[in-house]
Amino acid sequence: MVTCHCEEQNVSRTEIAERLHEIQGKKCFICGRPIDLNSGDWQIDHIVPRAAGGKDEPQNFALTHEICNKKKLDSDLRVARCMFKYEEMKEKYGKRGFNHPNLGDFLEEFGGAKYPLKISKINDEIEYEFWHISTIKSDKSNLYKDALSGLNYSFISLPIEYIYHDDRINPRAIGSRVKGLIEEFLHGRPQLHVSLAWTKIEHGKAEVKVFDGQHKIAAQLLLGVREFPLRVFLVNNEKDLDLLLVTNTRAGTVLRQVAFDMSVQRFLGSQIYWEKIDQYRQLKGLEENDLSFSEKDLITFFKGEHRELKKYIIDDVRTYVIHSPENKLKDYIEFGGRAAEKPLSYSTIEKTFFTFFINKEPLETPLSYKLEVGENPRQLEKEQLIKLMNMFAEEILIGKYDVDIGSAKIEEKLRKGENIPDNHLRAIRLTREEVLYNILRYVRDCIKRYFLLAMGKSVEDKELFQYKFPEQLWGHIRKVIQNIANMPLWINRDTGLSSAIFGGKQSYDYWKTLFDTGKTPQGVAVLPKGLSLDELLT
Ligand SMILES: [Zn+2]
Repeated sequence: MVTCHCEEQNVSRTEIAERLHEIQGKKCFICGRPIDLNSGDWQIDHIVPRAAGGKDEPQNFALTHEICNKKKLDSDLRVARCMFKYEEMKEKYGKRGFNHPNLGDFLEEFGGAKYPLKISKINDEIEYEFWHISTIKSDKSNLYKDALSGLNYSFISLPIEYIYHDDRINPRAIGSRVKGLIEEFLHGRPQLHVSLAWTKIEHGKAEVKVFDGQHKIAAQLLLGVREFPLRVFLVNNEKDLDLLLVTNTRAGTVLRQVAFDMSVQRFLGSQIYWEKIDQYRQLKGLEENDLSFSEKDLITFFKGEHRELKKYIIDDVRTYVIHSPENKLKDYIEFGGRAAEKPLSYSTIEKTFFTFFINKEPLETPLSYKLEVGENPRQLEKEQLIKLMNMFAEEILIGKYDVDIGSAKIEEKLRKGENIPDNHLRAIRLTREEVLYNILRYVRDCIKRYFLLAMGKSVEDKELFQYKFPEQLWGHIRKVIQNIANMPLWINRDTGLSSAIFGGKQSYDYWKTLFDTGKTPQGVAVLPKGLSLDELLT
């Protein structure tokens, strides 16, 4: 809020507002939507806050909605404006993939990624044309050779219309740490590293795809920049591209030069897995879509890389399951490390659902085995895992967990007497890693027993999800989840219990003992008695 000295100069607050209203095109400085001065819903504020050296002069004033000013995400209105836009994009594009917009979404939002370059390679140079504008502009750049890899590259500066995002090599989303970069650029500090891209000339045209440095580009897009410097690798074939994919993946995993979230590492592993399948086909002279070989065959063939490959196979299952559009649980998973709004972290999913139910051993059946009749073991594993996760989402989270309350410090808030709704409290307690892990033990036992008693089949734990579950079994699983979720323990507000059991993170064994006996390892009775599968099924 501005409390300025203008009124002494006989300029009223309303007059300033009217002037700003005109200058800003009748729109709010933060959200960009129209402001109605008669509504009274407006405020005048300093663009650069006084505390940061902003002057108390009309040039430093802006008109905003009252609500936008109240909710602003930074005291510097220019940053607040960028972050408003970012939040808006999170809402618009964040529903899929990694729950945040990626560079492709940013480019789309700002009118980029529209045209391939018209390009030709002449000796040690590339010549390219910006052809979508009325006066065609052409330019050329030196082509260099990377000394050890032999890859060709060039340095060019491109308007965003000619920049695409490669979400395959770099699927990472734009996280809220983009704010730090916005502040840097806003203070006139230059971009230090050049973003990386690759392109392949086909019929005189080339789409330039960025695979590194997307946060820098996103931050500057938000600040109105529309042209970016790039180091562009000129790729000749699949092998070159594969090299970039592997290099970038290693930079973020083995070498840890870039901080890749675990789910991003898995995604890249899955990409490399499919690259390996392609290589295998080529070297064996197989058709493009051939799936007549097994995971075991691949491992035997790529002997030198068998350990990595084994991991990539599992990465592919994890990635499929977690990014499936059918997966209802993923809306409740925080992919970028610490969870605050969302109850689950990606790492919890790996330690629970994936640890229990993904078979880590490579299969000997062909990848195409019974795929058409819906009985391929890997495919069943993926689809049934999604179905199980959906059941948890339906019984515990959807319409029950309140994002606005969030998951941070819930037990503390509860002990201070804050009003936490039952459904929300239950959802938070049931999705604790150690609790979830132990619930899944009962789910696993329920499945095993069904196979044994109803189908006369003894199945190893790791293979359970690779057999098709009859509808009746799904009914049993749901019953188990419902019965556990309905236990009064999850909504018990006793402060002693809250701090003893839910205070800090407990071990898996702590909860195993509690579920098995009804008592904590210290002997404190929490449940009337231990849980039994028989009772959980009624
Ligand atoms: Zn506004």
